[in-house]
Amino acid sequence: MRTVVLAGGIGGARFLEGLRAAMATGTTRDQITVIGNTGDDITLFGLRVCPDLDTVMYTLGGGINTEQGWGRAAETFTVREELAAYGAQPQWFTLGDRDFATHIVRTRMLAEGTPLSTVTAHLCARWQPGVELIPMTDDPVETHVRVSADTGPRELHFQEWWVRHGARLTAHGFRSVGADEARPAPGVLAAIEAADVILLPPSNPVVSIGSILSVPGIRSALLPKTVVGVSPIIGNAPVRGMADACLRAIGVETSAAAVARHYGPDLLDGWLVDDSDRGVLDTVPGTTVRARPLYMHDTSTTAEIAQAALDLAWDLQKEKENR
Ligand code: GDP
Ligand code: CA
Repeated sequence: MRTVVLAGGIGGARFLEGLRAAMATGTTRDQITVIGNTGDDITLFGLRVCPDLDTVMYTLGGGINTEQGWGRAAETFTVREELAAYGAQPQWFTLGDRDFATHIVRTRMLAEGTPLSTVTAHLCARWQPGVELIPMTDDPVETHVRVSADTGPRELHFQEWWVRHGARLTAHGFRSVGADEARPAPGVLAAIEAADVILLPPSNPVVSIGSILSVPGIRSALLPKTVVGVSPIIGNAPVRGMADACLRAIGVETSAAAVARHYGPDLLDGWLVDDSDRGVLDTVPGTTVRARPLYMHDTSTTAEIAQAALDLAWDLQKEKENR
């Protein structure tokens, strides 16, 4: 079975751990392709940092700081302290010593003209994540946030808004800078075309999955496929993080049903919501909604969520065939 997953950082990576476990127990030759969000990418100290790709790679490769959900385990911060001693900016983004090595290798390869997808494959050769991880595009795309400051409207990099300001500056919208001219990375459209099932993990619907969908060609390639998503919103709040601030900025209510309607019935065939959101089962026209526990406590509970998403996809496909 071939599964394609559109993933952001923490929510995407945790779901993928469960999906990998669920598919490992299958008897068929299974393959997971991950299309990773690069809208969060940022250049710091001359180094290209790809937070979402790295979170997926470190999580599935066993190198993640599990309490935090991002960054390396057993990390030290000597380089960061030395940079601060020089007054080097910015100091609001934490990069550890082990993590720095990843960004140095990536930046050197990019500077030599190697595309990001090839660089990512090279980094993954060390981590062996057990999935094929492809960035959504090799072209530079950066999510910017429109806010109003005392001096008038202003646009800042998503990371500055999210990490430096903790998403507390009221956002009026997002812009996927560079997306219009971006092309899907090699392998993205072929993987979608060959996929039996497309899964949307409980990633941020605006700045993670929304950013992937902003690359021309990706959304339209998904439309004919069976797409099943897992809600990142439980009981009108994100499980962790500040997805509510992102939804508010684009005028979407923070609820499992509103996120499904935002994806739209043309894209989304099936949607898993938490048991506590059972009340929304009939409020998403054109999408089949099922309720079950959606907290990803550990790999085995997450594997059950992933299996439920796959089961829903099978049922929807059978329905399609019988029509
Ligand atoms: P980021 O790039 O690190 O922000 O991570 P993602 O975009 O992949 O995922 C963030 C989303 O994951 C947030 O909106 C959370 O609500 C969601 N999330 C985190 N943990 C859980 C969980 O246990 N269950 C569900 N359903 N969603 C979760
Ligand atoms: Ca992210």
